[in-house]
Amino acid sequence: MNARKIERIERALSAWEGQETDCALCPRECHADRSRGPTGYCRTGTKAVIASALLHFGEEPVLSGLHDCADSESSNVSRRGSGTIFFCGCNLRCLFCQNYQISWLGRGRPVEDEELADMMLDLERRGALNINLVSPTQAILPILRALRLALARRLSLPLVYNTNGYERADVIERLAGIVDIYLPDCKYALSEPAARLSGAADYFDHAGPALQEMFVQQPDLILDAGGFASAGTIFRHLVLPGQVPNSLAVCDWLAETFRPTVPLSLMSQYQPCWRAPEDLRRPLLPDEYGAVLDRARRLGFDPLFVQSALFAEDEHLNPDFERKSPFHWKRRND
Ligand code: SF4
Repeated sequence: MNARKIERIERALSAWEGQETDCALCPRECHADRSRGPTGYCRTGTKAVIASALLHFGEEPVLSGLHDCADSESSNVSRRGSGTIFFCGCNLRCLFCQNYQISWLGRGRPVEDEELADMMLDLERRGALNINLVSPTQAILPILRALRLALARRLSLPLVYNTNGYERADVIERLAGIVDIYLPDCKYALSEPAARLSGAADYFDHAGPALQEMFVQQPDLILDAGGFASAGTIFRHLVLPGQVPNSLAVCDWLAETFRPTVPLSLMSQYQPCWRAPEDLRRPLLPDEYGAVLDRARRLGFDPLFVQSALFAEDEHLNPDFERKSPFHWKRRND
């Protein structure tokens, strides 16, 4: 199994030879020379820059092991957590980003490929259920090089590709047989909020085909004997204040495009932060989340992961990457 993955990684790396000096690995297609240091729209060089590597207990229960799935029959509880690695830089500029310290400000540490491989193996030793790569897009080359090393040293965990969704479909195509679980955001179906809030008017033009490619590769959510995901695609959507029409359009598109039983994680954890514009400088209202949740239930997403009790007062959902432990896990881990 690992030998086949290593082969696919070799093929992807050789197909992307030259991208470090002329990068077009995401829809921005900057053609930046990343060998000269952090550059391009994502402000990333050739090394992965890591903000944190930890056991995460706040992801969907099939990934973290902690039960918080209102509409699922699964009741498995585990404290193993998702082996999450946070990468700095981003190809979006979300004004409300809760991870702005790392996505905008790049507060992290550049690491060699060997050290990144060690981090993956260390998370496995600590009992992680998977290796969860958060914002992997701009770091895909060092990730693949590190993964090749870790697989050669018998890394055996499922690989989670946890992305903002703003991807090139042909780049995702090359990850077939390497990524086990896709965890993409579907942030916007409408171009006005995509342009104004994330600097990507063409978000949906790229995310649409990219998400379809992910689903082609991993159409079925497969749970292992313990009830934890070993393969599949789980779509995510964060409901934003005042943006219910966008959220409804996202739900409708997901239901129309994929089969009605596709997994959806509907997030309510929005907190005003960073450079959120005036209309987003307030918490999400329960009624707003409720309206989107009603639509999602009617459309029949299954499983439907819900953050029903997690509204504005849960400040722990906003990480602080200045701290050694960026998350509090106040509710889900108690
Ligand atoms: S990965 Fe970064 S440098 Fe490459 S095209 Fe995207 S934004 Fe530009």
